[in-house]
Amino acid sequence: MIPRGDGRKVFAVSERESMPYDVVIIGAGPAGLSAAIRLKQLANEAGSELSVCILEKGSEVGAHILSGAVIDPKSLDELLPEWREQGCPLAAVPVNDNQHWVLTKTKKVGVPHFITPGFMHNKGTYTGSLGNLCRWLAAQAEGLGVEIFPGFPAAEILYNEDGSVKGVATGDMGVARDGSHKADYAPGLELHAKYTFFAEGVRGHLTKMIKPQFALDAECEPQVFGLGVKELWDIKPENHAEGRVIHTQGWPLDQNANGGGFLYHQANGQVALGFVTWLNYRNPHISPFQEMQKWKTHPEIAKILKGGKRVSYGARAISDGGYQSVPKLAFPGGALIGDSAGFLNVPRIKGTHTAMKSGMMAAEAAFAAVNAGRSSDTLDAYQASYDDSWVKKELSVVRNVLPLVEKYGDLAGTLLSGITMWLETLKIKVPFTM
Ligand SMILES: Cc1cc2nc3c(=O)[nH]c(=O)nc-3n(C[C@H](O)[C@H](O)[C@H](O)COP(=O)(O)OP(=O)(O)OC[C@H]3O[C@@H](n4cnc5c(N)ncnc54)[C@H](O)[C@@H]3O)c2cc1C
Repeated sequence: MIPRGDGRKVFAVSERESMPYDVVIIGAGPAGLSAAIRLKQLANEAGSELSVCILEKGSEVGAHILSGAVIDPKSLDELLPEWREQGCPLAAVPVNDNQHWVLTKTKKVGVPHFITPGFMHNKGTYTGSLGNLCRWLAAQAEGLGVEIFPGFPAAEILYNEDGSVKGVATGDMGVARDGSHKADYAPGLELHAKYTFFAEGVRGHLTKMIKPQFALDAECEPQVFGLGVKELWDIKPENHAEGRVIHTQGWPLDQNANGGGFLYHQANGQVALGFVTWLNYRNPHISPFQEMQKWKTHPEIAKILKGGKRVSYGARAISDGGYQSVPKLAFPGGALIGDSAGFLNVPRIKGTHTAMKSGMMAAEAAFAAVNAGRSSDTLDAYQASYDDSWVKKELSVVRNVLPLVEKYGDLAGTLLSGITMWLETLKIKVPFTM
């Protein structure tokens, strides 16, 4: 114990053990798991050795992933083309009915499909638990030789002398409030890597440190956020329509706030529902949780839930900045993938397929680098693949949606967004980025 001048005690940091890997990934969400799988696939195809590990702060993979999603299988098709035959739980419920409602306090108006471009119609998508998808992806990754450590948050970024990222350290365990070591004290572990992928999801605490460290967001707009409150319900069989997905806008939000609701009829008589409130609301008394509770009392929603039982709930942040807020993706010794960078397509409320693809692109760049004997440099090839990818194009098509809704309100903004999305879909480039 080292006494300090201010009377507080400082306890010496014990020697930490270190483990070397080719690639260390922080976070076992769709992005991190897809990156790990792609890395091992490439190594196996080339017949080379490549060590990959994932740190996951949840007690198990999927524990911190709020379930209930509609997923575009584009990246899954590319990563594991046989996923449907291999027992992936997502295959159970293809979306067969897509509805979009504008709500007033007591009524709903259905928006006809022809008003929105095809990519908004959820054709070919699946609805299921994102947590279960991650658990399945984790099993595929482990089958390929990826080491996954659940229950181990990455707590600190480690740097080489030249300033490049050297890896991460897990937090010490068994430390008392005053900093003293309890009987079960165990020092953190250092994981050293040639490349470290940050796949922490929205507003990860290490991502928040690495961005300013390498000025990654110096040339993009600041990221903006929403808060999604989600619930999972068992509902009565007569109210259930497996494969139907519903999105709503309008009530209970007024012109002082933006956002919307969703309700997905999934397997086993369950619905996953939620309400996202963008955190730019002008009325300071708004509570995203209360908006969700109000939304559930709308006659059209209440009718579906009547006689049902809520089985789980939670809340999660969502990054809404899209195209304009994507930072620089690669830096010496590492890369941002998935929601750590912010690839969510806002009007589709979908970020899983883009998160997965970004992980795959980063993996391809890192594998080529390691194979060429490189380490700890900047994966320019990852940035270049993103710049040339369908992910960037997809985000570009919808880039004005959030700014237009913010500026002109829910109805006029949605109408104008629809026009810009149509123009972009018809390959008529809208000459502005808001
Ligand atoms: C309300 C809501 C509804 C959504 N609906 C859909 C939808 O229907 N369809 C869709 O495609 N997308 C949807 N999304 C978006 C989708 O969930 C994300 O885009 C996607 O999960 C991003 O994947 P990711 O791997 O980047 O991050 P995440 O899924 O957030 O995974 C990050 C993982 O990293 C772990 N982690 C974080 N920090 C650390 C650390 N320091 N050390 C170790 N582990 C760490 C976390 O525990 C987590 O497991 C929704 C999001 C929200 C909030």
